[in-house]
Amino acid sequence: MALDFKTLLVVNAVNLILMAFVLGAIMRNPVSAAAASARASLVVQAIGWAVFMVTSIWGARWSEALPEGIFHVYHALGLWWIPTFSVACTSVSIWLMFRALQGWLGPRHGNWTMLSLAILTPLGYALAYDNYPVRVGWSNTLLAMQLLIVCIATLRPSSDRAGGWRWVIFLCALVMAGFTAARGILGAFYTQEYPSFTTPHPVNVLALLATNVSLVLVNLAVLVAWREEAEAQLRNHAYTDALTGLHNRHHWELRAPAVFDAAIRHGNDLSLLALDLDFFKRINDTHGHDEGDQVLTLFGQTILENLRSSDLAARIGGEEFVILLPQTDQQAARQFEARLRSAFLRNCERDPLLMVNFSAGLASLREVDTALTAFLARADRALYRAKEAGRGRLEVDV
Ligand code: GH3
Ligand code: MG
Ligand code: MG
Repeated sequence: MALDFKTLLVVNAVNLILMAFVLGAIMRNPVSAAAASARASLVVQAIGWAVFMVTSIWGARWSEALPEGIFHVYHALGLWWIPTFSVACTSVSIWLMFRALQGWLGPRHGNWTMLSLAILTPLGYALAYDNYPVRVGWSNTLLAMQLLIVCIATLRPSSDRAGGWRWVIFLCALVMAGFTAARGILGAFYTQEYPSFTTPHPVNVLALLATNVSLVLVNLAVLVAWREEAEAQLRNHAYTDALTGLHNRHHWELRAPAVFDAAIRHGNDLSLLALDLDFFKRINDTHGHDEGDQVLTLFGQTILENLRSSDLAARIGGEEFVILLPQTDQQAARQFEARLRSAFLRNCERDPLLMVNFSAGLASLREVDTALTAFLARADRALYRAKEAGRGRLEVDV
């Protein structure tokens, strides 16, 4: 089957440009840094292809359409800079896609390598512009390396929620890395058979077809990644208490039973702290509701700073909090409470007007505990005793 290479090139470039700009229009602001990087990656790539298409189809003739002043500047600069610009766009676009993956999947290795390659690829191309094998070998080898780093970046998920879109980007980047490397080798060592990127050489035709398919797939993957990110944000909003950053009551009710059941099943220690700020109403009455909110935020922050990743802390009422401490016996839970109290009092000292303390009730798992509600009631009972005994202290339900 004979394929008209130039038609293919135009179709490819037009597709890319349209998709990049349609995606840009769909992903309206505000988008996250990761989504903005992915969008920028596709736009920069489209610009690179557009420039490449114009110059490679119309050759030197296109510049004759330029206004006279610009025509002179263009020719005075020499022919190297337009293809260099195109190569730079491709390189920067791959780097931007890597940045998007970092945002979506968490920190990845290769940041500096990626940035260096995005600079070195067009730089080497421009410096070696007069030497075809060197410039083609250099730029394609480095671009293939960039694409391989993108491949590797998709491999390690940040969580089990990171979906199938990773594999789409992985496959597209891998296939494109293969074609790019092949172009580099052909250009560097088989210059006779491969005199330019636009000759209808089978590798060029296949690469262009692969580019076309992967641009559709990568756009799709970006859309899905973006939706996944929005879902995660919504989930986060639904489960997090906005004022303190702790889990809200709803999330506590979803998560706490599993933590409780696991401790019972494995016979592990488990402690539960019920906390309530003392005379909090006075803070609101004396300093205003906003100041009260700030105290709640500070308390939430102090809890978060002192928590282990396996602990579960939630704001279950206005100024009422619970903390579930897995694999923690009574002694260790007492130490945690003491650490939390001194950290909170230290944090409160920043504002001398605020003298806030809290009461705490502690229950540690015993063999007779079979239900979370009863376990909670024990911690609440201890909290009540702490209030009765004068507040600002810990009582333990034994
Ligand atoms: P005690 O030592 O007995 O716990 O006294 P208290 O004043 O802390 O307890 P009380 O239950 O009488 O008052 C709780 C107060 O917490 C009343 C309510 O206005 C305040 N509150 C509840 N939620 C919020 C909130 O989101 N922001 C602010 N600023 N105040 C809140
Ligand atoms: Mg209170
Ligand atoms: Mg209360």
